[in-house]
Amino acid sequence: MVSHELKTPITSLKAYLQVLQRMAVKEENLMQQNTLEKSLKQVDNMAAMINGFLNVSRLDSGQMHIEKKPFDFQLFFSEIEDEVLSVIHTHKFIFNTYGPLLVSADREKISHVIHNLIGNAVKYSPIGTAVTAEYSVTDDHHLKISVTDQGQGIAEEDRERIFERYYRAKDIQSTSIAGFGIGLYLCKEIIELHHGRIEVQSSPDQGSVFSFVLPLDGETFNL
Ligand code: ADP
Repeated sequence: MVSHELKTPITSLKAYLQVLQRMAVKEENLMQQNTLEKSLKQVDNMAAMINGFLNVSRLDSGQMHIEKKPFDFQLFFSEIEDEVLSVIHTHKFIFNTYGPLLVSADREKISHVIHNLIGNAVKYSPIGTAVTAEYSVTDDHHLKISVTDQGQGIAEEDRERIFERYYRAKDIQSTSIAGFGIGLYLCKEIIELHHGRIEVQSSPDQGSVFSFVLPLDGETFNL
């Protein structure tokens, strides 16, 4: 119920802003178009934050359920690429595909994890740098997804703790960037509910590689 109460006004606000945006486009009012685009981005940020906290409370009350269904990972990955390219214009994106692969997982939640890792890669690296996303199958039959950035990197003492709830790195760069420290905590829980594992390789100023593996069950095969 709380979830519904929180989401309804945001959905309406977004719809009203989109109406205004269409009017501004028709009237060729660039200043209004610009302001409305920024407003819509902020509404999306707010929706993402609310979703994050709702997911934390779902986890706490044991109500985060994984619904596994088979899907083609290549198609799914290219949809994520399209979504990212249409929304984020500040970085160079490289999406390396491994080819068609049938996997059984909770599509929406895995999408959430990948978007989160890409969002962080963008947030914690300079404008214009590259962000690479790729997937492959490991020798021990796991699906491995990695997101690599050329950003500020993570110090060892933070690296051990960033998957904890509400934990944020202590350096000046990180504390000046908005966030609550719940994104990676949710990613870890989602991956562990899939019996997978998430990890990071990084050092300060050397960029970061976040990767996670998901077990491919017996029915899964390369299409
Ligand atoms: P938030 O970004 O809201 O703080 P997260 O749980 O997503 O929360 O991340 C936790 C912390 O991990 C961040 O505050 C940041 O210090 C660090 N972090 C996450 N992703 C990256 C990255 N790609 N590069 C550098 N630091 C990162």
